[in-house]
Amino acid sequence: MGIATRYLEPLTHKFSQVGLRNTLRVAYLDLSDKVRSAIGKRFPSMALSPRSIQIECTTRCNLKCTFCELSYWTERPADLKHESIRAMVDRLPKLRRIDLTGIGEALMNREFFDIVAFLKSRGLYIAMNDNFTMMTDRSARRIVELGVDQIYVSLDGATKGTYEQLRVGANFDKVIANVGRLVAAKRGPLELAEEELARGNVGRAVRLLEDAIEESPVDLPRLRVLYAETLRRQAGSFSDKDAAQAERLLIKAVKADPKNAAAYFDLGMTYTKSKRYAEAISAFEKIGKELGII
Ligand code: SF4
Repeated sequence: MGIATRYLEPLTHKFSQVGLRNTLRVAYLDLSDKVRSAIGKRFPSMALSPRSIQIECTTRCNLKCTFCELSYWTERPADLKHESIRAMVDRLPKLRRIDLTGIGEALMNREFFDIVAFLKSRGLYIAMNDNFTMMTDRSARRIVELGVDQIYVSLDGATKGTYEQLRVGANFDKVIANVGRLVAAKRGPLELAEEELARGNVGRAVRLLEDAIEESPVDLPRLRVLYAETLRRQAGSFSDKDAAQAERLLIKAVKADPKNAAAYFDLGMTYTKSKRYAEAISAFEKIGKELGII
């Protein structure tokens, strides 16, 4: 096998997928591991702290894959504890990368996210495998927010039949949908909501934005602007058939983004239609003040 096939092709593929910085980081870690291993073999008396380690964060699993040694184990399963990993990392001053899985389903360890948060606070590159049977929207978001660097999908079999025969206990369709959850979490709530709006799914966009505003205040101002505008659109679909609902949505919109003059205007028009002129005037005045014209 030529050098191009062994090293350059995987690196070129990685570069196209994860960008230059990540590719260089992994290439450096791989190379440095190889050098350290060669030095260790040549000079066994030299104690070299490893740069990369692999440690299962649990030996529990919800599947019984036919090819996996874990399916035939008789030992009691156990979870890695946050305190244990902290003690371990403290003794490895050169550690730069950790793979948190070998066997076992990582998300079964209740301390998994605490462990990842701790490892990230030490600046480590984190890789993991996952069978994706337990990936929820929430766990996918946590994985993205915490910055897990590399995640392999354990998927043996391109068809439901083959896959489920090998991965006993898993549901192919659910796993594929769960992979989609991680991809979606990676895209972020703003992009997702915009996609839903482009498809005309206004209600779904509203729910996505509400969850995002509650859980992830990073993009709060931008989220609120889009949320208000989306509520305004949703109110528009109720204006003829359910004026009270349209009014409720518009009130939420102006609370979410007090600078949304169009939402104030729509609210004013809703009051005007129901002959609540005082409230209409107040809404119009707010727009005027917001626009600096009164
Ligand atoms: S999901 Fe992974 S750890 Fe669990 S049984 Fe299958 S191969 Fe083994």
